[in-house]
Amino acid sequence: MTYASKQDLLRQLPGVDALLELAGTVHATHKIPQKVLKSAIRATLESLRNSTLKGDNPSLAPQDCLATAIAIATRTLKPKLVSTINATGVVLHTNLGRALLCDAALKNITTIASGYSNLEFNITTGKRGIRYSVVEALLCELTGAEAAMAVNNNAGAVLLCLDTLANAKEVIVSRGELVEIGGSFRIPDVMAKSGGILREVGTTNRTHMKDYETAITDNTGLLLKVHTSNYRIEGFTKSVSISELVALGKTKGIKVMEDLGSGSLIDFSKYGLTREPTVPDAVAAGVDIVTFSGDKLLGGPQAGIILGTRSAIEQIRSNPLTRALRIDKLTLAALESTLALYRDEALAVEKIPTLRMLALSFDKTKELATPILEQLKERLNETAIVAFADLSSRTGGGAFPELALPSRCIAVTPLTLSADQLQKRMRMATPAIIGRIDNDRFIIDPRTLQPGDAQTIINTLCVILTESCK
Ligand SMILES: *Cc1c(COP(=O)(O)O)cnc(C)c1O
Repeated sequence: MTYASKQDLLRQLPGVDALLELAGTVHATHKIPQKVLKSAIRATLESLRNSTLKGDNPSLAPQDCLATAIAIATRTLKPKLVSTINATGVVLHTNLGRALLCDAALKNITTIASGYSNLEFNITTGKRGIRYSVVEALLCELTGAEAAMAVNNNAGAVLLCLDTLANAKEVIVSRGELVEIGGSFRIPDVMAKSGGILREVGTTNRTHMKDYETAITDNTGLLLKVHTSNYRIEGFTKSVSISELVALGKTKGIKVMEDLGSGSLIDFSKYGLTREPTVPDAVAAGVDIVTFSGDKLLGGPQAGIILGTRSAIEQIRSNPLTRALRIDKLTLAALESTLALYRDEALAVEKIPTLRMLALSFDKTKELATPILEQLKERLNETAIVAFADLSSRTGGGAFPELALPSRCIAVTPLTLSADQLQKRMRMATPAIIGRIDNDRFIIDPRTLQPGDAQTIINTLCVILTESCK
């Protein structure tokens, strides 16, 4: 087509105003804000102009232009943060939002967020209060700590503690504990940002008491222990326990801090998991400061919890960085309600989703998997092979790295498309269903399914596989 004839075609392209006028007569546009519609129309016209000039010959009829614009606007208006179904069996799935909140926390968020509260107001004295009071007594009661506070997240808590206690001083850390948590949180980098000077001791696999002892100088500000929560060093290993480190700190007059990462308030070995050091263990060992996440094994909202001696916590609170890392009232509301459940461990395990899913026995996963398999067998008939697969779920979130939680899963082998294609279609469904692939089978792990999820998965699988047969 010649340039002149393309120009002729472009003269048929409707104008923005004409399309807006036409939109006024179309019911589908009633819920689209004018601004959004207008920019969708502009984007449509721009793209039609380009494809006409390329010689693609698109329809320039006003109705067709408007239909495209409405489709663009509808896509723009769709929320970006949407709920998904986690069929992966990874309980603390970082990409899928880590811990789910318990009902009490959700309810409290609504109550506190929808009205005024005593966030920083002492009702008894009528004077200004401290926001940390909301959770301080409870945290102390549950862990045995002398004082406590909470900030935005644990990375922030570590940064804040190092900045307060080790600024321009040396912090002694074992080489075996210089961890990267993921998402670019690395202990040496956080140390550099805090102004603490990293003093590495020992080797990757073995660090002895004498390594710490000989590294101590007049410029030592802190002894730091980092819980290697997301990996294990096995074999010829040696590390100094937190109690030994505390003893050394006491004799030398140096503070000791432990970053527990995925700090747990309960001993999971009772529920068939391995024994991990708990928060009360660290406190009992006598550390000056302990930090851990609110949304890992605790099963609460994203937060960084700091426990410690009264003097250390006072010092941290008066650091200006504290304000920058301030915990918000919604988080505090959720945290208080979650922590309150820990007063009765059985109740906590029943009501806190993370704990419930981690403690779920293999027998219980069998019970959950059976009706899913039965329904799928009945409804999928010729489109897929479905079978049980006894596999393992994972804790995720950098906790219990080596631990496999035995789980009875459902394995779907589609006959009309590949397992990868099925995985993608499940992901593109509404709501998105995230599952894993094992040996060319799409795996559904019942451990991380929430009420109603199983039915949605079954229905979606039926739709996708039936369609793929046509
Ligand atoms: C996860 C983790 C952090 C970071 O905690 P966030 O709550 O994700 O900010 C810090 N240290 C350790 C050892 C961790 O495992």
